[in-house]
Formats: sequence, structure tokens, C-alpha cells
Amino acid sequence: MPGVYLSFPFCGQKCTYCNFGSGVFPQSLSEEYLAALKHEIAAFGWNWTPDTLFLGGGTPSLMEPDVIEDLLDAVPGKPWREATLEAAPGSFDAAKVQAWIRGGVNRVSLGAQSFVTAELRRTGRRHTAQTVEADCALLRDRGITNFNLDLIAGLPGQTPASFQESLDEIARLDPPHVSVYMLEVDEDSRLGLEILNHGSRYGAGDVPGDDAIVEMYETAVDRLAALGMHRYEISNFAKPGFESEHNLKYWRLEPYAGFGADAHSLDGGVRWRNVESPSEYVKRWREGRSPAEDRTEACFAEEKFFVGLRLSEGVRATDTERDFYREPIARFIEQGLLEDGGGVLRLTRRGVLLSNEVFEEFVNP
Ligand code: SF4
Repeated sequence: MPGVYLSFPFCGQKCTYCNFGSGVFPQSLSEEYLAALKHEIAAFGWNWTPDTLFLGGGTPSLMEPDVIEDLLDAVPGKPWREATLEAAPGSFDAAKVQAWIRGGVNRVSLGAQSFVTAELRRTGRRHTAQTVEADCALLRDRGITNFNLDLIAGLPGQTPASFQESLDEIARLDPPHVSVYMLEVDEDSRLGLEILNHGSRYGAGDVPGDDAIVEMYETAVDRLAALGMHRYEISNFAKPGFESEHNLKYWRLEPYAGFGADAHSLDGGVRWRNVESPSEYVKRWREGRSPAEDRTEACFAEEKFFVGLRLSEGVRATDTERDFYREPIARFIEQGLLEDGGGVLRLTRRGVLLSNEVFEEFVNP
């Protein structure tokens, strides 16, 4: 069954590394935004019932308990097999968790990012390791045992040794799922832009080099494996049975519908995305216009490889596809970046580190 993504792009602060369209906006905009969001959900031609839902952002955990329940009630299919809510550490209490559960939430993704206070402060994050520990205890106490902790490798001032400290905390908290993202440097975040401009604000001068970031990532792969969390996607690690069913749909090119600002959708071979800015999203709703733009035909032949190879399960290639990609497949196998077994192509451990190079070839063979 398809999945549903709901976007709530409102945050308590704008993190320096964040390259999403989310941020701090007036309360009045968030109220109008929720009305527009519910309208978009109600107006959707529901000829299927979702079995997974992801409420992301932004920081949906900032929503008041009754508001979140009301929003989730607008989506058909409750109880969903998996319904994830993204939360910022320190932004929720027992009453909110109870409301999430009543609303159908059974999985929480917590943006820990780091357990080292100095690293967190430089990004604009206000929580501490103790905040995350208390949040995990609260979730478990209320019965949400399926939760994820996010980590970032490459923060200003971070070193392989300080990254180990964060991994030590992960080992202590023993979550069933961890995501490890390498810092993305692009002009859509304040930190990324500063790095590209060779500036020093936001700790841009203290961002670790590529080798150190790779070392952190490789350490995480080994450490998490030792904790029973296998890598099932380049950035995602889970104990058996705790892989994110919703996110797997993106990588397996299964259909999903996104609602809200900057939400993406894939259905019937067509991809589209909504306008990025929450104020433009609200404006379109007021004017009675669709928030969708950028409709394109999905190119499954290419996407099967450059999206599917992100998964450790790999991609089962047909004879025609093997023929079409014969040269790059042979070259990457020869270079030790791809392996071919039982009809399935997978990135090797080294291939994961050079994955962008591999993906590029499948987009422009
Ligand atoms: S990183 Fe998360 S919490 Fe920070 S601004 Fe971006 S969406 Fe908001």
C-alpha cells in the first residue's frame, strides 16, 4: 500500500546546517498553514488507503496535542502499520506523547544530531545529552519502543574522538534505529554557504575534513553493527524488524503522496512536489490554487539503480538492464565498488563511500 507524508515546516530555531525550507515563522502562519494542509488532505482523491505515514518537518513535536490529533484524524487508514513523527529533543512531554499515540503514532524520530554540548550549541540546537536520555525514557515509558535517533557526522568542531562519545551514548540508550547523515555542504544552509564562501561564521572554519568525516561514518557502521543495528540503507541502521517501512517505500520506488509545503509525491509513474515556502503554500490555498508544481514523468529505469542501490538489499537487474548498463557495471565491479551475486547488484563497503560517483553513471550512462 502507498504511504503518506505530511510536512510541518515550523521550528523553534533555524539550525545552521539545515538546508530544508523549514524555519521560524509567526504563529499566525502556522495556524493558516494547518488549515491549508487539512484542506489539501481532504481534497485528495483517496482511491487507496495508506498503511504508513510520516509526519516530518520541521518540528511537528511543537504542535499542541489536540492540533496534532486533529491533523492525523484527517488522514484515512488509522491505525497505520507504521506512523512516524519527527521530534526535537526537549520539545514534548507525557501529554503530547499520549496525544500522538491516540492519533496513531507508533514510531518517533528524534533529532539528537550529537551528544556533545559544544557541537550542538554551534548549530543552534538547545538540548543536551541528558535531554535526549529523558526523551527516550519517556517514549519507552509510554510504550513507544520503536524510535530513531539521528546523528550528523561533520559538524563544526567534531572529531573522530568526539563522534565516538556520541556513539557511546547511542550504545547506552540502545535505540532500535539510528540514522547517520554526513554534513551536506550547499548554499541552502547558512553553514554550507559560509563554507563555500571560505568564511568562518557558524564554525565553518572548524568543519572536519573529508577523511575525518569518512572515518566517523566508518566507525559508526562498525559500532552500530556490533550493537545489532545493520546498515539497510546508506544512512540508516536498524535492529532486525525496525527498518522504517515508510522510508523503504521511497527507495523501492513504491507510491506515496506528500501533503504540505515542499512535500514530494510519486503516483502512477508521475512525480510532483509542492511549493517550498509555507507562506506560498498558504497563499495558494487562499487563492484556491493547487500547491503542486514540477510534475514530471518518473524515470524508473534510471531511478531503480540510483535510488535502489542506496539499499543494502541491492537491485535485481534484468537482462535488458544489464545489457544497457554493461560498461559501468563491469567497470564498478572491476574497481571493487559494486558486487554481483545471485542476480543482485549491491554497493560494496567501498562503493558506499563513493556512491555518488556510482549513481551518476546510472543517471547519465
Ligand atoms: S534541522 Fe530540523 S529542527 Fe533544525 S531548522 Fe532544520 S528542520 Fe528545523
